[in-house]
Amino acid sequence: MLARRASCAALARSAVASRRCAPAAQLGNLGGKRNNVRTKAGIESAVETEENCYGIFCYNYDVSEDEDSPVPEGWKKTIRVAVSGAAGQISNHLLFQIASGLTFGDKQPIALNLLGSDRSRSAVEGVAMELEDSCYPLLRELNISTDPMQAFRDADWAILIGAKPRGPGMERSDLLDMNGQIFQMQGKALNEVANPDCKVVVVGNPCNTNALIAMENAPNLDRKNFHALTRLDQNRARSQLAMKANVFYETVTNVAIWGNHSTTQVPDFVNAKVQGEKVTDVIGDMAWLEEEFTPLVQTRGAAVIKKWGRSSGASTAVSISDHIRSLVNPTPAGDCFCMAVCSDGNPYGIEEGLIYSMPLRSKGDGSYEIVEDFEINDWLRARLKKSEDELVNERNCVAHLTGMSGGACEVGAEDTTLPGEN
Ligand code: NDP
Repeated sequence: MLARRASCAALARSAVASRRCAPAAQLGNLGGKRNNVRTKAGIESAVETEENCYGIFCYNYDVSEDEDSPVPEGWKKTIRVAVSGAAGQISNHLLFQIASGLTFGDKQPIALNLLGSDRSRSAVEGVAMELEDSCYPLLRELNISTDPMQAFRDADWAILIGAKPRGPGMERSDLLDMNGQIFQMQGKALNEVANPDCKVVVVGNPCNTNALIAMENAPNLDRKNFHALTRLDQNRARSQLAMKANVFYETVTNVAIWGNHSTTQVPDFVNAKVQGEKVTDVIGDMAWLEEEFTPLVQTRGAAVIKKWGRSSGASTAVSISDHIRSLVNPTPAGDCFCMAVCSDGNPYGIEEGLIYSMPLRSKGDGSYEIVEDFEINDWLRARLKKSEDELVNERNCVAHLTGMSGGACEVGAEDTTLPGEN
């Protein structure tokens, strides 16, 4: 899939339409002239080469010399974003946030590669049609594929949402294996074809261990660049603390989620602050903080399903945008954000080689540092360890997918999958 540029103007000037097209010449950065709308011959040869540009995005033109629509001042170089599970309900929100500039910023042009399953290929085309109909100025290119080797080629960001839900009678260990195979294949593809600095955001569950599998299968990529989403949990914790403290959530800072995105996760009220004061001082009700707050955050997904009849798609998409915005913008002084990251070299004594959620800060360059000075009291320590043990067990269960040697798979009868997030 080569870089292409397109606009609604290009379609208006051509009667030719096709969903597939021939490889186009690599175009330069934005800031020049529209040149060639594709010839019919070009389109015909594309069908043979199985290229996957979509609709209007197959029209190849260079805006760099286009006097009618000059490139807006300050636009950055186009980045390539691959999204798997593109036909799913989370993507149905997220893709429009990305294309509108909400996720990466309003000066960041985007080339989108959508990855669907064979079964969802037609639905992904429906999503592409809606993106096409939205005429987002920042969306410069759109490609569809069911092959990770195509979808991840030259990706600067890969957002891995697509995963299979648990079927009837399936154990948690079966889910680990079934989805683990998807992330093993996708890790290998990222290793082969992605930008070596590609940032990989894993959403599909069980997301920590799926991220670990992808990371272990992609030795060419930096281990620090694999993250699993716990931002939805952070946002949920923040809003519950705000409600209890009777303040607006903007003034609640330093909220971390530790560990696994499962019911062993630890929403941290010990280090959280309200209007710069410790939550424990402001709320004061330790019984609520210790016994009610954690399950409230953990069962929030189930509470949404009960009211809404389906799982949280929109707020998950918002939290993915938050996750990315926290990496591409500097973290405000005195605050943190969280995602599950590789535990190598962490200052909290968590076993290395896990994908474990922690408090982080970023300078806004896409990278992050682990915040080192969070207080870990006995209450937190015991719970951090429980989540760590669970992740060690999950890692043992997927040793056949990571090539690592491990102990026995001891994922037990207790189901720690978050309600509604099979
Ligand atoms: P949906 O079922 O609506 O969408 C998933 C899509 O992914 C489907 O279209 C599915 O297609 C597709 N898919 C399945 N396997 C692959 C694959 N190998 N490659 C590409 N696409 C594939 O699910 P949601 O969007 O609601 O949720 C997606 C995942 O996100 C789930 O695993 C869910 O548990 C997780 N999640 C994680 C959260 C977090 O905080 N980390 C929060 C909420 C959800 P098909 O029809 O073929 O199955």
